[in-house]
Amino acid sequence: MASYDFDLFVIGGGSGGVRAARMAAGTGARVGIVEEYRYGGTCVIRGCVPKKLFSYASHFHEDFEDAAGFGWQLGETRFDWGKLIANKDAEINRLEGIYQKLLSNAGVEIFTGHGRLEDPHTLRIGDRKITADKFLIATGGHPVFPPGDGWEHAISSNECFHLEKLPERVVVYGGGYIAVEFAGIFNGLGSQVTQVYRGPQVLRGFDEDVRQTLGAEMAKKGIDLVLGTTIEGIEKADGELKVRLSDGRQIACDVVMAATGRKPNTKDLGLEAAGVALTSKGAIEVDAYSQTSQANIYAVGDVTDRVNLTPVAIHEAMALVNTLFRGQPTAMDYADIPSAVFSHPTVATVGLTEAQAREAAGSAGVDVYRSTFKPLKHTLSGRDEKTMMKMIVQRDSQRVLGIHMVGLDAPEIIQGMAVAIKAGATKDVFDHTVGIHPTAAEEFVTMREPLPDPE
Ligand code: NDP
Repeated sequence: MASYDFDLFVIGGGSGGVRAARMAAGTGARVGIVEEYRYGGTCVIRGCVPKKLFSYASHFHEDFEDAAGFGWQLGETRFDWGKLIANKDAEINRLEGIYQKLLSNAGVEIFTGHGRLEDPHTLRIGDRKITADKFLIATGGHPVFPPGDGWEHAISSNECFHLEKLPERVVVYGGGYIAVEFAGIFNGLGSQVTQVYRGPQVLRGFDEDVRQTLGAEMAKKGIDLVLGTTIEGIEKADGELKVRLSDGRQIACDVVMAATGRKPNTKDLGLEAAGVALTSKGAIEVDAYSQTSQANIYAVGDVTDRVNLTPVAIHEAMALVNTLFRGQPTAMDYADIPSAVFSHPTVATVGLTEAQAREAAGSAGVDVYRSTFKPLKHTLSGRDEKTMMKMIVQRDSQRVLGIHMVGLDAPEIIQGMAVAIKAGATKDVFDHTVGIHPTAAEEFVTMREPLPDPE
């Protein structure tokens, strides 16, 4: 065998790349990694983690209001955007340091710079040439702006984490995860928010009851949800932005945020020179074992555009290390991946939507259980916010196919439900599980009457 500098060299220091590098090094392999920006990747640096910190920050507004019903009287409250940004930056710096330390403690050699493949076994980083038996590409993705005029005046989620001040008026474009999360964040922090989305309701692809409930709750919180509408153009004039909508309206605002999807980072990686093929959508093409069209090159995470979630990239990385370095060929299991949206209120879901379940079950049909109620907390807070919980069960086998929730603590609750679904639990198992009282979660083990079948 030719002698290479490394057994595995990872391009991209995000969640997937870092996990693969550490785990591979743990098996005794000689591993290197390169990152051109900051270790931690999208999730830690400009995604999940700072987003959730912002989401916490934006909740206090309601928490202060809710406190009154419990007897608390608060003095004047004031929000300091600069302090939030500074504290968030300090935490992200700390996490980045931890990522680097985990890598070096595992014996991974760390590089900084842009890596470009020259052939299947050679990578160039600046004037340094590195050879490796195997490469892993884990370069993630980036936000994309829609076509049209004036988008150079808009920002993406990347810039939201570094705005100099909290904008007074924000237009958020899109109806996916990032759009609803940031609409909630800006609204909670006190901005006036208009969310424009081309579809009939936010969160396309989610269960219909989830979509309707979230849309209604967001509107109650004061977000102006403009549905079935597109942005035709943006102009900058008189120190503000003017957003032209397809319904003929014009909205003045301070910030326009595009949350219109993300694309894999595949540019300038030398993929052609290395013989790595792309899919028609521009992602790196991989098989079930994350192997690309070039046998010694692998790819995981958002750059492969399979399921673009941090924990999925991490699982793909661990499956790959099992395959390559532990003699246990492992294909990632994409069934029943839970996910959450940190909107206000939160959404979390696992398994099939009602529509998907009806199609999968065919004539056998499904039993649908649904509960909508005012959470106990809001009996005293007086807040008009509903929780919606839903369970979809295959009628003949009684297997639970999908669980969905909109409301307080949904992500924390659904994580446990995902274990039950992964274990193949039937409705009977839920019925025999004793609830924890008083919680919203206990509703999932006390659902008795299915909804009548639709006509
Ligand atoms: P999504 O794919 O979720 O949503 C993109 C939104 O933009 C959709 O509403 C889409 O509309 C709309 N859109 C796309 N192109 C256009 C266009 N040309 N004109 C107008 N509207 C357009 O992407 P996000 O950017 O919100 O998030 C990217 C990914 O990041 C997510 O899919 C998710 O995997 C991940 N993520 C996960 C989070 C979590 O787990 N909590 C949080 C944030 C991101 P339509 O629906 O009509 O196609």
